[in-house]
Amino acid sequence: MHPAGRAAREGEGPKALPVPSPGLLAAEAYCDEHLGDLAGDAAPPSPTFRGGQRAADAALDRFSVSGYAARRNEVWPTDRRGASRLSPYIRHGLVSLDRAWRAVEGGPRRDVEKFRDELLWQEYARHLHARLGPRMRAPLRASMPWREADLDRAWPAAMACMALAREELEADGWLPNQVRMWLASQLGVRHRMRWQEGEDHFFRHLLDGSRAANRLGWQWTVGSGNGKAYGFSRWQVEKRAPGLCESCALARQCPIGDWPESDALEPQAPPELLRGAPDLETTRGPSQPEVHGEPQHVWVSAESMGHADPALAAWPDLPVIFVFDAPLLGRLRLSRKRLVFLVETLAELASSRRLELWRGAPAEVLAGRPLAATFTPVPGWRRIRRGLDLVALHPWPWLVEPVSGPMASFSQWRKSCGRRR
Ligand SMILES: Cc1cc2nc3c(=O)[nH]c(=O)nc-3n(C[C@H](O)[C@H](O)[C@H](O)COP(=O)(O)OP(=O)(O)OC[C@H]3O[C@@H](n4cnc5c(N)ncnc54)[C@H](O)[C@@H]3O)c2cc1C
Repeated sequence: MHPAGRAAREGEGPKALPVPSPGLLAAEAYCDEHLGDLAGDAAPPSPTFRGGQRAADAALDRFSVSGYAARRNEVWPTDRRGASRLSPYIRHGLVSLDRAWRAVEGGPRRDVEKFRDELLWQEYARHLHARLGPRMRAPLRASMPWREADLDRAWPAAMACMALAREELEADGWLPNQVRMWLASQLGVRHRMRWQEGEDHFFRHLLDGSRAANRLGWQWTVGSGNGKAYGFSRWQVEKRAPGLCESCALARQCPIGDWPESDALEPQAPPELLRGAPDLETTRGPSQPEVHGEPQHVWVSAESMGHADPALAAWPDLPVIFVFDAPLLGRLRLSRKRLVFLVETLAELASSRRLELWRGAPAEVLAGRPLAATFTPVPGWRRIRRGLDLVALHPWPWLVEPVSGPMASFSQWRKSCGRRR
């Protein structure tokens, strides 16, 4: 284990941190001083994505859904792209799925339907993760024999398509869906590397990195989630990034001229939890606010940092408390650009709310304080809350009501899941 992770696990007591000043330079300096030992690298901030509610609102205002269906999968040159790039803001609750859903009302029908379908994929990932938790990291419906390899072998820098993809992932912290599938297929299907290694690498770098959507994306691309692997070859690059192959040193000896073999998948029995949820209440949370005391702080986590977070909105005069989970961060080794994004978001929150910041184990920092919080459907949050005095618990803003029915595939889930809230 990395020394920082060890120190964070072994007895690092909670430490109160100052509130960061606004601005990118201040966020970087703050990160280096207070969180630098927990970062996995020294990467500069994303040149494209700024943290905070204002940046999220501006991104949503800028997005036009017209042409989305036709251009969502375009990759290069970048001005051909049609994806919204909202994911870092959706990931951290700065734009709720419901708000994104409503924002495209009145747009061209085909584009609106396609965009909303993608929002539902995000919701599906959240429902799956809420139900399966860490079980999502193991193959769900098929497995294949893995080979030892490393990222450089699976994603060789000499291939223009892989170099473009990896550079954008590691510098910008974001990739179009199509490119995520290229990287995942190249690693998990063609090279048969353990996909969890690729998933961890994505998670460290993506500003939208979530265990829910990331694991879903990897499981479904390599075929372990649905039994069908996505094959990646030169064909997609020529279609989605026209002209890129001409700049490639390997253009005449392209290692991905043919489709990869994908016949190694072995069907396996899906986990029982994909058939039904025995304990829906635990994963769904309350449907109405549950208040049985006087909270003194609103506890906010990285899952929901927006002004519209239900607990933040319900208690506008209470101070807010946020804990950098040092034991967890020490293990995850997130890229510095992810931490800068969070610090920028918190600095902005501090301009409208009294904010208390801590570094340590959340359960220790928060124990004994009467808190208001929004129920959060991720296993880590549920674990922490067990020891806390949550006197006001607010419902998670689900896009569609979770149900206990089968959810082995997106279409099966769509048929059984509840109405939009
Ligand atoms: C291997 C792999 C890993 C992925 N890891 C993540 C991740 O860690 N976090 C993450 O949010 N998404 C992940 N995705 C899903 C998807 O690629 C991104 O959500 C999308 O590319 C974000 O860009 P956008 O906001 O421009 O998307 P748009 O196309 O504009 O879609 C709008 C929103 O819909 C949601 N969405 C779109 N496509 C998907 C999808 N396939 N699955 C789930 N939600 C989707 C996102 O919230 C997105 O912001 C992954 C996909 C793959 C194949």
